[in-house]
Amino acid sequence: MSCKVLYGKPVSEHIKSELKLKIDELSNIGIIPKLSVILIGDNPASKIYVNSKHKTFVNMNCKSDIYNLDKNVSEEEIIKLINSLNSNPEVHGILIQLPAPDHLNEENIIRAINPSKDVDGLHPINLGKLFQGKPSFIPCTPYGCLKILEYYEVETVSKNIVIIGRSNLVGKPLFGLLSQKFQIGNATVTLCHSRTKNIDFFTKEADIIIAAVGVPKLVKSNMIKDNCILIDVGINRINDDSKKGYHIVGDIDFDSVQKKASAVTPVPGGVGVMTVTMLLYNTINSIKV
Ligand code: NAD
Repeated sequence: MSCKVLYGKPVSEHIKSELKLKIDELSNIGIIPKLSVILIGDNPASKIYVNSKHKTFVNMNCKSDIYNLDKNVSEEEIIKLINSLNSNPEVHGILIQLPAPDHLNEENIIRAINPSKDVDGLHPINLGKLFQGKPSFIPCTPYGCLKILEYYEVETVSKNIVIIGRSNLVGKPLFGLLSQKFQIGNATVTLCHSRTKNIDFFTKEADIIIAAVGVPKLVKSNMIKDNCILIDVGINRINDDSKKGYHIVGDIDFDSVQKKASAVTPVPGGVGVMTVTMLLYNTINSIKV
């Protein structure tokens, strides 16, 4: 049985080529899409993510500002900055790079963002609309998963989809989206998490499995049925003797599942590529002219 590898790059390139036309149109009327990113503290992984977002925006002739705040900054100061970005007409999207340091209440900070500039889709108003099946900003990683399914023409209607992981960032929005009466949706969705007993019982019945857990190679071939399609959201750093000192693996045991699966996304090179692309997509689509 041959297993197809669902790379993120062609999906991302396809979306970017369409966005490019929109960016050019906006530029002709004097509008340059702009994202403002708030990075708190000096978490090295967060810095890498923020820089990669910045690069993508700049390469697409868009603007991206990074506000790197001190790790001890107060909630009040952050909210003051968000308020000024909310009222700045040149800023189309605002993103708080999570996680925030422990002394801060992430919920309060996200709530301060004007929902019409919440391009990360994490404001309760946007998440509420998502669960009602109404138009809203869709969080970037779940949106990236949907776009991969769409591009590779993976049928979701009436399928059994098992999502592993129930975070507000990935698992829960995916559950909300895939159970809607949407073209990429209309599925019977099961949400598994750390307290699910016998995860295999559910995964063995799944036509599609989406893993967003943070446990390296959790999903193996003995947990899936033949011809299953797997989407791997996980990004796990494994220390090794290489020059870099580590390599990245997903939540799915890529080599093992290939024996039975009909398709699987790689890590790296799968969903990760899509997250930044969908951030660009959301930012550009937040501009109403
Ligand atoms: P999280 O820690 O907020 O949530 C993890 C979820 O997994 C929790 O709901 C928990 O209940 C569940 N879980 C933990 N251990 C489990 C187990 N043994 N069995 C079943 N469920 C278990 O994580 P998150 O923010 O949703 O991220 C999940 C993974 O996806 C991480 O590896 C993260 O780095 C990665 N991620 C990737 C992208 C991307 O762009 N590709 C974006 C966001 C997150």
